Amino acid sequence: MTQAQPNRRAGDTPRSGAPEAAAFDAVVVGAGFAGLYMLHRLRGLGLSVRVFEAGEGVGGTWYWNRYPGARCDVESMQYSYSFSEELQQEWQWSERFSGQPEILRYANHVADRFDLRRDIRFETSVTATTWDEAAQHWIVETDRGDRITAPLCVMATGCLSAARMPGIPGLESFGGDTYHTGHWPHGGVDFTGRRVAVVGTGSSGIQSIPVIAEQAAHVTVFQRTPNFSIPARNKPMDEGYETLWKSDYRARRLKARTMRNGILYNLNDMSAMEASEAERRHEYETRWQGGGLAFMAAYSDLALNADSNRTAADFVRGKIRAIVRDAATAEALAPTTYPIGTKRICVDSDYYDTFNRDNVSLVDLRATPIEEVTPAGIMTADGTVHEVDSIVFATGFDAMTGALLKAGISGRAGVRLADKWEAGPRTYLGLMTAGFPNLFTITGPGSPSVLSNMMVSIEQHVDWIADCIARMRSRGVRTIEATQEAEDSWVEHVNEVAHRTLYPRAASWYMGANIPGKPRVFMPYIGGVGVYRESCDEIAAKGYEGFRFSGAAVANETSAAAE
Ligand code: NAP
Repeated sequence: MTQAQPNRRAGDTPRSGAPEAAAFDAVVVGAGFAGLYMLHRLRGLGLSVRVFEAGEGVGGTWYWNRYPGARCDVESMQYSYSFSEELQQEWQWSERFSGQPEILRYANHVADRFDLRRDIRFETSVTATTWDEAAQHWIVETDRGDRITAPLCVMATGCLSAARMPGIPGLESFGGDTYHTGHWPHGGVDFTGRRVAVVGTGSSGIQSIPVIAEQAAHVTVFQRTPNFSIPARNKPMDEGYETLWKSDYRARRLKARTMRNGILYNLNDMSAMEASEAERRHEYETRWQGGGLAFMAAYSDLALNADSNRTAADFVRGKIRAIVRDAATAEALAPTTYPIGTKRICVDSDYYDTFNRDNVSLVDLRATPIEEVTPAGIMTADGTVHEVDSIVFATGFDAMTGALLKAGISGRAGVRLADKWEAGPRTYLGLMTAGFPNLFTITGPGSPSVLSNMMVSIEQHVDWIADCIARMRSRGVRTIEATQEAEDSWVEHVNEVAHRTLYPRAASWYMGANIPGKPRVFMPYIGGVGVYRESCDEIAAKGYEGFRFSGAAVANETSAAAE
């Protein structure tokens, strides 16, 4: 480990000649919820840390995704940090499901409360991350000309942060304004009197369409694949509910960590096939009325058994037909080509009902695909030009790998991560990848990440990484690296578990299917947050089984873990 040099700033690096790289103990890329907590933990270990963040402020996904209606689909009481009892007691959420502005305020509060900003360089993107074999450290370069070195590098780049614009011919010729939900203008957009096209009906489209429709003259929704969506039933925070959580926060958080997706809610252990039709209807109706993701916990086998899954899908399709008055529109909105939940389920406020408005229309791209964008609007294959003033692309992200690969990472022998992952991401536990020593990925591919409450998964990874680094330092260990064998068997396990479920049946972003040419690999680990945490802890307790250490004499011995 290098000695801490807290007074040396990357910003002080000379910009001409051969710049002397400023040296830190650790570099963290990204100042979203993962990067903020990582910085806090590393500082607690006495490390000098430099964080690079592309945005002007903290918050990551909640900094960029400012589109109208942006809201979390995990309840506020659970979508928050648990690492500080004071923080979780003092912060007050105003709604059952928090909107983006409130979550961003929370991220800023955390940054201030723990004095995190002084180590973060904003508006700075990492362009190259190179392992220097001789010096045993990472060299990190940015678009601002910074060049720093650090033996440890933590990628806190987020799973859904590389926004993706589709390559539609003629897009540059469009005479109006274009927006992407994942890169929304900070000042907001006034759609009053405007004819707006929304392309994409994933969570971002489904959340924004009802809000845009309230303002715009007309909204034309371009839908390629319909999504299943459950009403959020959002409401102001109930004081009694908040008190209940806060009086028992620690125990509830611990329990949530054992759940399949890191969210504490009522999970039914029964198979849907064990219930009668009337019982199922009652169960689904109760959960539909309750709102939120708990709908998918109605039965234990909805992700596993196609017959069970169909009962839930039929229920939601029935709801769509009951809500949407125009029968043809209802049919177009009802998903039929994949099991419910295998594309990320959406949680909405008045989505289906929005199609009953006079100023909203649906274009089913399966019947008439987009041909091109013209100066006046969007032309579909039947020759119709849908004239609009603005186009909102809610077309998603290069998920899980996009932001990591943007950081230009090269490991041992100059091997590029992009080349290593050409056929799909390969990691051990989603935490490290062989050939890239001391490079940690928070909620990386191969970990539960996007299938879980991200806050729970982020805290678990940050704590695991920080504990690992603490042990390395106390033992004088210089490097840790996943072994090829451990990585191979983890990748196989991740695949095997995924294929026991119905998930691979959908062409989803979990599979990389939304990016032309991206390999079809199920990227997150579906074994469950609780099981996964146990595996990670067990591996650490066994002296970091599957990892190789270098530096100190005893590095790889079991005793290295037993503090
Ligand atoms: P998404 O789920 O990937 O949805 C993108 C949409 O754009 C899909 O409907 C897709 O259709 C469509 N699309 C993509 N390329 C297209 C093209 N060339 N022509 C026409 N349509 C096209 O992206 P997202 O809605 O931004 O959501 C991504 C993830 O972010 C979510 O799944 C969720 O995990 C997270 N998120 C969470 C929240 C929340 O907490 N409530 C809110 C927003 C996002 P196909 O399905 O046919 O590809």
